[in-house]
Amino acid sequence: MPSPLAHALAGLTVHVATAPAGELASRRRAAVTVGAALAPDLDFAWRLLDGVNHHQAQGHSIGVGLVVAAAVTLVAAAGRAPRPWALGLAALAGWTSHLLLDLLNVDTSPPIGLMALWPFSAGYFKSPWSLFLDIGRTLNWRTVRHDVVAIAWEVAVLCPVLIAAWRGRARRRAGAWHGARVREQISG
Ligand SMILES: [Zn+2]
Repeated sequence: MPSPLAHALAGLTVHVATAPAGELASRRRAAVTVGAALAPDLDFAWRLLDGVNHHQAQGHSIGVGLVVAAAVTLVAAAGRAPRPWALGLAALAGWTSHLLLDLLNVDTSPPIGLMALWPFSAGYFKSPWSLFLDIGRTLNWRTVRHDVVAIAWEVAVLCPVLIAAWRGRARRRAGAWHGARVREQISG
């Protein structure tokens, strides 16, 4: 699995790329998107209930992502947040970014892959191409050294994507501003 830092970076990128104008600075929207991008790995905690490993099973699926998005929408509506369905969609986008990163990860812990399409399919899916290294879960010097390299690689891959999303936004805003100025001059 990629590190929590990689999932947080991906969630932040999704927020920057998809936030409507005026909501980029919304801490609530950013927190929902990044939180949803981190949340699927909470399935580690299921083991505490029955002693069985449920990691990357139903908790790593688009089906649970849809349930989480619906729950976020309901909570936002109950809290009278503006456009609650948009927060639900932000949660779904963050959740999906987690599945995408995990699909692109070297996976060395059986079962290999994730139950990404549950409840439509109970199969485990894995991309044939791996972009990220597996983060080791045992604490010894070799694992720590491997994890430092893996996290550095994640940052090297994901930070340019975040910067590109930011620049793409700035370019779109500059284009919209220029278009408005031209229309003003034509009508004036
Ligand atoms: Zn995961």
